[in-house]
Amino acid sequence: MGLTIYCDGEFVPEEEAKVSVFDHGFLYGDGIFEGIRAYHGRVFKLAEHLKRLYESARSIHLDIGLPVAEMERIVIETCRLNQIRDGYIRLVVSRGKGDLGLDPLKCSRAATYCIADQIKLYPPSIYEEGMELRTVAIRRNNPDSLNPRIKSLNYLNNILAKIEANLAGIPEGVLLNQEGYVAECTGDNIFIVQNGVLKTPPGYVGILEGITRNTVLSLAEKRGLKTSQELFTRHDLYTADECFLTGTAAELVPVVKIDGRVIGQGTPGETFKGLLREFRETTLTDGPEIFR
Ligand code: PMP
Repeated sequence: MGLTIYCDGEFVPEEEAKVSVFDHGFLYGDGIFEGIRAYHGRVFKLAEHLKRLYESARSIHLDIGLPVAEMERIVIETCRLNQIRDGYIRLVVSRGKGDLGLDPLKCSRAATYCIADQIKLYPPSIYEEGMELRTVAIRRNNPDSLNPRIKSLNYLNNILAKIEANLAGIPEGVLLNQEGYVAECTGDNIFIVQNGVLKTPPGYVGILEGITRNTVLSLAEKRGLKTSQELFTRHDLYTADECFLTGTAAELVPVVKIDGRVIGQGTPGETFKGLLREFRETTLTDGPEIFR
């Protein structure tokens, strides 16, 4: 059976869920989005995702035209209509239909879309044995040009990095910022464990400040682990005791090799495993229920 999609004001069967060729999300990447997960019949961290969505909108001068409570209802209803207890939700807000010029003022109103489905980014072996990364030549968008804190529909920077890593036979790429500091991966934040301290790059390095990242940081702090948001380099990656990625779609992914160097013992580390256990636990109770 096909999906039911929220498509600019109405729920329709997936065959009828169409976007205009004059939509500026399509023509110019002019829009924003969120990737959200449902776990155990609840929409995980929904409030945090909606906060980021509305902040992205504000940053790009986009009036979503819907109150947050209505957006929340749309997300939950899309899950409910598709019987999603565990799955992945894609919420997209485009500048809407305009003409062929880029002028956003020609777009009369924003258009919202919501899809609830399943997603699988990597095979189970990667989660069990660990992933290999490669640093790519392309640098993360400069925050002065297009701030990575905005979760915009313009993902070419990330896609080019993914292509570069994949062409080298590696599933995921690490992007550095303009100064050569480690920023993030194509759709995930990066963490290392160094001398017992859990480290991740700070927001100002030019990253999307992931909701999974923030969840992991607070879980680590709760269990008394020292955390630090600080600049680090490739050398720090190569010499780390542990490394892992966080993202809504990918969840928590252990990393065991970077640019050919084996990280730590070459297997998922103990800090990672502990945090993964606790992360799974938080998914049991966080977020609004879908089936009330
Ligand atoms: N960085 C980028 C570039 C991303 O696209 C994502 C996925 N949304 C993340 C980091 C991780 O963010 P989150 O944990 O909120 O999914």
